[in-house]
Amino acid sequence: MVEWGWNSRSDQLQIRCNWCRQHNPVIYDFLVGEQVTEGPPDDFADIAAMEAKSTEERAAFWQEQAEHCIRCYACRQTCPGCYCIDCFVEQLDPEWVGIRIAPEENLMWNTIRAFHLAGRCISCNECERVCPVNIPLSLPNRRMEREVLDLFDYRAGMSEDAVAPLITFKKDDKLGIGE
Ligand code: SF4
Ligand code: SF4
Ligand code: SF4
Repeated sequence: MVEWGWNSRSDQLQIRCNWCRQHNPVIYDFLVGEQVTEGPPDDFADIAAMEAKSTEERAAFWQEQAEHCIRCYACRQTCPGCYCIDCFVEQLDPEWVGIRIAPEENLMWNTIRAFHLAGRCISCNECERVCPVNIPLSLPNRRMEREVLDLFDYRAGMSEDAVAPLITFKKDDKLGIGE
């Protein structure tokens, strides 16, 4: 799919099409045409490029992004995984994050939302697409996606029956996972 601006069609592929590795529908009633051969697995090159930067560079990058956020919550409103009746960002007791539109609170808002979608985000990238100030939300989202893939061999949206790993537990789960 090509990218659209407010009133114009570009000749660029949408960013999500670059990393999509699911060209055949997982579930369908009727498949138009034949199944296609899937390409190689996602190499998360965008995440690797970010990780190659120093801690200071990444901190400065996200600090600047946080300054742009206007807390419109369009990212949340469009997200298929954000269906909570009371989102943490609007709760006052306890107050998880301040209501002030300022870099510190904005950064906290975006970080917590990314964690809430860990293991449930389907990489549709709608949140980034609708963000009016073009914050690259795919970076934290895909970082979490890769983490869940590495730790649990799990990708959201690939099975009707699978239970997302971060919404269940076994009594003998290791506490030191990831160490
Ligand atoms: S859509 Fe963009 S500007 Fe709006 S709350 Fe989300 S990150 Fe902030
Ligand atoms: S950001 Fe978290 S609390 Fe808010 S709607 Fe999304 S999943 Fe729910
Ligand atoms: S990419 Fe993930 S976090 Fe963003 S809208 Fe889609 S499911 Fe939600």
